[in-house]
Amino acid sequence: MKADLHCHSWYSDGVLSPAEVVQLALANEVTHLAITDHDCTAGLSAASEESAASELTLIPGVEISCEWRGLEIHVVGLFINSSNEVLQALLASQQKIRRARMVAMNQKLEAMGVSGLMAYLDGLNCVALTRSHVANFLVQAGVSPSRPKAFKRYLRKEGRLFVAVQWCALAEAIAAIRSAGGIAVLAHPGRYPLNRKKLTLLIEDFHQAGGEALEASYPNIDPEMARYLEVQALQTGLMLSLGSDFHDPAAQWTDIGKVPPLSRRGSDQAVWHHPVWDYCQT
Ligand code: AMP
Ligand code: MN
Ligand code: MN
Ligand code: MN
Repeated sequence: MKADLHCHSWYSDGVLSPAEVVQLALANEVTHLAITDHDCTAGLSAASEESAASELTLIPGVEISCEWRGLEIHVVGLFINSSNEVLQALLASQQKIRRARMVAMNQKLEAMGVSGLMAYLDGLNCVALTRSHVANFLVQAGVSPSRPKAFKRYLRKEGRLFVAVQWCALAEAIAAIRSAGGIAVLAHPGRYPLNRKKLTLLIEDFHQAGGEALEASYPNIDPEMARYLEVQALQTGLMLSLGSDFHDPAAQWTDIGKVPPLSRRGSDQAVWHHPVWDYCQT
């Protein structure tokens, strides 16, 4: 078994279509794949059609941006029923927040004498608009020489075009995933600007709110962090997940399926031991 339970298609800020994501997963010998676009499930039906006649097991997923004690946190939902109304209402609200953010960024850009962002965004396939799309626009419009520079100068929190947003609360994201029958997974816990004490508090709050798993392996994870997450899971009874967070085949440090395996001890608590896992494969 080779699982990748976190990746993106062009319905959020990935580069590939859902069918291409499935094909790449197959080429990389992934056996279990979750497509987890930011705040939308638009890619799931095409991915499901593409994988139907193949060996690949597709797990319906999503990645929700949310707020916890003033910080932006990402929660992945696995095995979600994408027709669930509570979940879709939340995702519609998040998509609306994302569009409003783009309108506000466009105003800032126009004040700088740069027009065309909204037309550029309207020409994309995507449903969940992200700063990543703005980065692409800034490069295409000649405002920035590269995506990293676009983030550094314009899009990060201190950047010229940054617009703060009020995402849904962590507990709301978890509740929506659960009402859609899914497993809520704390995405890339080592990527938040939190010391161990605060991260432990986040994990506690996440667990209390009904979260069921921690992502304990993803590209570039600090081995120390991976061990800490395993210990947290052992102590709290949370399960463990893993995923590449793949967006773009041109980014060589992430590829679908390219993610360090869980340790032997960690894999005893992996999400593939969750009752929903077997239930959904039959
Ligand atoms: P948003 O959810 O609209 O805030 O957009 C954030 C997305 O931009 C993330 O999901 C990443 O894929 C991407 N991103 C964030 N920071 C960077 C960065 N420094 N360089 C490149 N991509 C980034
Ligand atoms: Mn992204
Ligand atoms: Mn994320
Ligand atoms: Mn992601």
